[in-house]
Amino acid sequence: MPAVSLGTPLLRASRVRPTTAGRPDVPELVDRFGRIARDVRISITEKCSLRCTYCMPAEGLPSIARSDLLTAAEIGRLVGIGARDLGIREVRFTGGEPLTRADLVDIVRLSAEAAPGVQLSMTTNGIGLDKKAAALKAAGLSRVNVSLDTIDREHFATLTRRDRLPAVLAGVRGARDAGLTPVKVNAVLMRETLEDAPALLGWAVREGFRLRFIEEMPLDADQLWRREQMVDAAELLAVLGASFPLSPIGREDPSAPAEEWLVGEGPATVGIIASVSRSFCGDCDRTRITAEGTVRSCLFGDDETDLRALLRGGADDDTIADWWRGAMWGKKAGHGIDGDSFARPVRSMGAIGG
Ligand code: SAM
Ligand code: SF4
Repeated sequence: MPAVSLGTPLLRASRVRPTTAGRPDVPELVDRFGRIARDVRISITEKCSLRCTYCMPAEGLPSIARSDLLTAAEIGRLVGIGARDLGIREVRFTGGEPLTRADLVDIVRLSAEAAPGVQLSMTTNGIGLDKKAAALKAAGLSRVNVSLDTIDREHFATLTRRDRLPAVLAGVRGARDAGLTPVKVNAVLMRETLEDAPALLGWAVREGFRLRFIEEMPLDADQLWRREQMVDAAELLAVLGASFPLSPIGREDPSAPAEEWLVGEGPATVGIIASVSRSFCGDCDRTRITAEGTVRSCLFGDDETDLRALLRGGADDDTIADWWRGAMWGKKAGHGIDGDSFARPVRSMGAIGG
């Protein structure tokens, strides 16, 4: 691992196999609490074209040496192992900003070839997406989540430290036009942009995007998050409810993080991912791979297992699958943000991959 302070956490040295004592002999990524991970988030870079205050420091994250990043072929191989041997059904590429990686189309194509039938999607800030959307679709990407917190240009520039709203709007529309649908738009709930929430929802309804608001989590590199200042789901509902009739319709499925509301008579909906005030850890079905090729069992769990050393050391697929299983067996019950003993993870969101 590089000696930069991306917040390199408790890396499990590649020779120390994760403990699997008590683990049932099943292929899937099960943990001690009966959950099965079927959805993998793969970070492919720490670089980004924005500097959202709830995520990155103003100067960006320290660079990861190119040789330390997983290659497109290594990512494709892990996706294949996940799909074939571990029961992974969904793959989401994230970062940093995935569109900053020049070989993104190769990553998608190699992953699609390695895992036919598995849904491939991407979380992106949308900058440059209009130019890449058709190639990504052709390579096998199904859909995208575009992050956009406000459609007020000044507020956007303050929150992301970059005046790039027009580029994001072009990107999100480009994704829709290329058929990367349904396009979901994710907005982090921030006090500075709470007043813009009704305008954002009106825009999303008109454009045919599925908007979801996300409670801010203590994963900002600047460590300014405070529970008492956080905008929670209840506060957002009061603000949106003053402009739109909303009726609750629940979750799409039990492991879906968003609770949905019908907007007016529908068919448009709005979702709220209340990761902090209504934690859904008990139904979590995620596993994560960082850009340097370590498995994280949880956003908030610093314990990481190095698969890159295995990939580069000549390990076969069965061995890599076993280590991934071991990493997930150690997953904790929950993040406990609302508890007294909560400790922030060492990595910030952009260094993990949200
Ligand atoms: N750059 C891409 C983007 O912004 O969509 C992908 C990476 S970004 C880290 C993934 C998601 O994490 C985005 O939707 C972003 O809004 C969200 N995110 C970042 N920091 C967060 C925080 N502190 N709390 C909640 N969500 C956060
Ligand atoms: Fe970049 Fe995404 Fe983090 Fe914003 S949330 S700084 S777009 S990685």
